[in-house]
Amino acid sequence: MLNSEIKTVAIANRGEVATRIIRACQELGLKTVLLHSSADIATRAYRLADKKICIGGSSSADSYLNIEANIQGAKAGGADALHPGFGFLSENSNFAQRCLDAGIIFIGPTPQAMNLLGDKMNCKVLAKKLGLPLIPGFEEDQQDVSFLIKKCEEIGFPVIVKAAAGGGGRGMKVIRSSSEAKELIESAQREAQSAFGSSKVFLEKYLDRAKHIEFQIFGDCTGKVVHLFERECSVQRRHQKIIEEALSPSINSETRRKMGECAVSLAQAAKYTGAGTVEFLIQDNNFYLLEVNTRLQVEHPVTELVVGVDLVKAQILTAMNKPAFDENLPMTPRGHSIECRIYAENSYLGGVPSTGLLGQVFWPEGPGRRFEYGFEKDDEVTSFYDSMIAKVIVWDENRIRAIQKMKRVLADSVIFGVHTNIPYLQEILSHPDFIDGTFTTRFIDKFFPNGLEKNNPSEKEAFILEKLKVTVTKNDQTEATSKMQASPWFHNWS
Ligand code: ADP
Repeated sequence: MLNSEIKTVAIANRGEVATRIIRACQELGLKTVLLHSSADIATRAYRLADKKICIGGSSSADSYLNIEANIQGAKAGGADALHPGFGFLSENSNFAQRCLDAGIIFIGPTPQAMNLLGDKMNCKVLAKKLGLPLIPGFEEDQQDVSFLIKKCEEIGFPVIVKAAAGGGGRGMKVIRSSSEAKELIESAQREAQSAFGSSKVFLEKYLDRAKHIEFQIFGDCTGKVVHLFERECSVQRRHQKIIEEALSPSINSETRRKMGECAVSLAQAAKYTGAGTVEFLIQDNNFYLLEVNTRLQVEHPVTELVVGVDLVKAQILTAMNKPAFDENLPMTPRGHSIECRIYAENSYLGGVPSTGLLGQVFWPEGPGRRFEYGFEKDDEVTSFYDSMIAKVIVWDENRIRAIQKMKRVLADSVIFGVHTNIPYLQEILSHPDFIDGTFTTRFIDKFFPNGLEKNNPSEKEAFILEKLKVTVTKNDQTEATSKMQASPWFHNWS
């Protein structure tokens, strides 16, 4: 039996989530050791952690994805527990097992529960046994392409082919007819092999009017599993979420009850402990299980704000064998919360990543406004990792007020030195389909396939450009914007 006393937590992650975990540890009186790469010294988490250990080079394979380097770093830092954050090794059951073998408490579910639910194929098998609604498809071992084409025809087009070991929205292809099936299946198999080390793919009916709705689940140290309601995450680009909210504007209380029961029964069957997410697609009032993420989710703050809990502290307390939540806390949702992921990218050039040294950064603090960020002034945004540099989360009494608040907060947020997707987010938040809640996972493809095309400067930019007397034409917008951002006048104005 593992000793569940925790004094020092190693953080096997970077960016805003590393900062989020450090804050939770500090509040619980725990020391932190940041296991970082050589590229992540000028970051907020580096400044906040009690100890920092460089575990490898800038490439993720050398550092954040290197199991042994993380274990050695955690041991060298005197950590008795490790929080994996999200992404990187967070869903790797071998890593969880290696931590346990090394006498380090893994802050997350057991490796067994991770295998049962986190592995897409195992999860489908368990869900089938429990009679839960699955998307029609084919997930068995036969991988012969002509056999898979036949299966596509049986399922009926459109069909989506996915990597069995995949994740992060990668390696999925939508097949719309028999004529393109061979090429797309083969290319999915090749991509799966190179990205995930296994060419195995599976098929699902592609639901093209679906909404992505997911339930936050939590298993405490007594074995009790609850759900903390849902998040709607249908605003996605290339199958990756951009804006998330809680609760969903699209389901009624009866559907919520049924989906919640389904999520809890699956987690209970796997004896799940800690935070996890059961993802569903819902179309024409029918919901289908998509997959389970056996970790903290990027969008966990929207649940925290509507339910009034701290999921990261709950994870750590569970690992310490302590109650996760206050027993008197009414687990009832209140108001509405929205999260926008802030990416360092150019909204006008199809979202091409933007890197560089950050200048002044200003987040407009206020009631119901939360900023999770990993970088501050003078930090460098590099090209080594995902380009998400921050998250802006708001809470208000209802959805319309939360949308209004988010638009104002984004308009007043200032980040110098890199381009961000803030103009893109503003357009999405103003779109009628977003406002009335009818958007589906095809929303971005349908309305913003290439990011922002119009090159008109925003009101704020136009005002500054006028002051700078810079002439903006379609072709020199980028140059003009960087001149503008470099100007001390712009700083003063902000
Ligand atoms: P990953 O594990 O890579 O995140 P998921 O299976 O969770 O992949 O799917 C990510 C997103 O891809 C979903 O939220 C949805 O937008 C889209 N998607 C996945 N499967 C389907 C499907 N069968 N029909 C329609 N959209 C799908």
